[in-house]
Amino acid sequence: MDTFSHALWGKALFGYKKYLYLPLFFGAAPDLLPFIPNLFYKLINGNFSYGKPSISSIPDWVFLIYDFSHSLITGFLLVLILFFFKKKYLSFAALAWPFHSILDSVSHSKDFFGTKIFWPLSDYRFDGVSWGQPEVWFTNIIFLIIIFYIRRPVPLIIAWTPLLTKLLKKNKKL
Ligand SMILES: [Zn+2]
Repeated sequence: MDTFSHALWGKALFGYKKYLYLPLFFGAAPDLLPFIPNLFYKLINGNFSYGKPSISSIPDWVFLIYDFSHSLITGFLLVLILFFFKKKYLSFAALAWPFHSILDSVSHSKDFFGTKIFWPLSDYRFDGVSWGQPEVWFTNIIFLIIIFYIRRPVPLIIAWTPLLTKLLKKNKKL
């Protein structure tokens, strides 16, 4: 999935207990780790380009960091370490990290950044459907909207009530 959606998924599923916004970061982190250094690398080398890069133009070390950051082992290890150090809420927020791996393993085809969820124990990659397909990406957006709607802090009608009563009072005075 795209990095922005990953951040939103992190917030949607794990961003409502104490750490409200950190899950945005945990959700995006597995992509930020390999691709931010790669961005600088490309800028320094003067071969920055927009759009989907060809696999051959991506250096090996990017794949290595990608495999490390996208392994469920890395994600759950982080969650467990935080839990072990009694960071209960932080470890809950960090669940956004392994969720990123699960989401990627079903939304990437095997040949373009297929997610090795058991790396370094195994190179197994689930052959998912690329998130570049409109039906996959829009389904993702629809689910995000539904979850954010369900998780909204107060029902919309209640949130608007003070504003509505104010407007009504003003109208009566006129
Ligand atoms: Zn990813």
